[in-house]
Amino acid sequence: MGETSEDTVAKQEEPKDQETAEAAVDSTAAGDEPMLVEPDLDFIRAATKHGGESLKKCFQCGTCSAVCAISPDNATFPRKEMALAVWGMKDRLVSDPDIWLCHQCGDCSARCPRGSKPGDIMAVARNFSFQHYAFPGLMGKMLAGAKFLPILFGIPVVLILALLAVSGHLGIPKGPIVFEKFFPHFLLDPLFILASLWALTALGVGLTRFWKDVKNDGALEENGAKPGLIPSIIAAVREIALHQKFRECDTPNPRSVSHLLVFYGFVGLFITTTLVFFGLYLPKVASLVGMHFPELTPLPMKLYHPVKILANVSAILFASGLVLMIYQRSTDPEKAGATNYYDCLFLGVMAGLALTGILSELLRLAGAAVLAYPMYFIHLVLVFFLIAYFPYSKFAHVVYRTVAVACSKYRGRT
Ligand code: SF4
Ligand code: SF4
Repeated sequence: MGETSEDTVAKQEEPKDQETAEAAVDSTAAGDEPMLVEPDLDFIRAATKHGGESLKKCFQCGTCSAVCAISPDNATFPRKEMALAVWGMKDRLVSDPDIWLCHQCGDCSARCPRGSKPGDIMAVARNFSFQHYAFPGLMGKMLAGAKFLPILFGIPVVLILALLAVSGHLGIPKGPIVFEKFFPHFLLDPLFILASLWALTALGVGLTRFWKDVKNDGALEENGAKPGLIPSIIAAVREIALHQKFRECDTPNPRSVSHLLVFYGFVGLFITTTLVFFGLYLPKVASLVGMHFPELTPLPMKLYHPVKILANVSAILFASGLVLMIYQRSTDPEKAGATNYYDCLFLGVMAGLALTGILSELLRLAGAAVLAYPMYFIHLVLVFFLIAYFPYSKFAHVVYRTVAVACSKYRGRT
């Protein structure tokens, strides 16, 4: 390019007509074919606001792509993503599977001679990506900023209070603390099943659109063997579950430990919730058809019950991973990468879940009914938030990343 990125962005910021602003030709980002660039100025503004303050500094030297240990040999990243971001080519960026291969180790940001933060820009692009594919789109927008939080939290508060009121359970139950008395499972479970079905449907629609776009991304060259769809998915799941790519960086990334703790803590809690659900309903279903099925997870469970032990160990892993994550982000932001709104929301909801879950249990054991039940209520609101808004929050990262990594392998991108 004959001009610097600052010149380019300055031009983009003062177009005569923002809708039809026509920029120049960018052969770096798009391959050899010249193409007309129509910058999405909203994207540039939003990218700058959401942690991409360093966007304008890039002058396309390519150092970042050279130092990235996990960038493929051809159509390397993150230089091409920096070019796309500078030009405001949001539509190209959100369907670029390479943004999901990056795990924000910060090697590229540390070596950039211009002080740009390509690792952070990749993170911003990922947030735009799952917001772009969100279904319905309005929900994606609502989860993108704090102004809709009162509505998002208000929905489960109203729903749960309405169910309690209609079923005559509004009030602190007398006697020993049993959460089942406060919010019976026959009320609780349909609500969360509906929330789960909603989330699965929304995620399915979003991922289908995403897969279609990343599979057809024409900018990527492939030169490796194509292993087929199922092996690609298995390899992607294994790579992400073991955090293999974290270990390939030049700079050892301490975030891998906190990520693993949160990841496996979350998986453990998901398994225990599923076991309790089936433990509760299988005997009931069996009795309906004249069969007997033992009650394997009687509520409230004893502390030494295997499922309870798994739940408590998972909660400890989860909570310690979160504390470590927050500590790393606050004490070493350079290495942890820029913290944007999605990160804050993720950490806030996860910390709230862990805290209210542990406090509910401790208050129950202490016999403090007047505190234990309201704490449990807040915990339920957060569980609903986690499930129903999963496709629109940072929780969705793990699914989008798995699909993008699987797609890269499927396409033979090595
Ligand atoms: S190293 Fe910095 S200046 Fe060079 S291409 Fe990457 S982001 Fe741009
Ligand atoms: S943050 Fe790390 S993984 Fe991501 S592009 Fe930079 S060097 Fe590569």
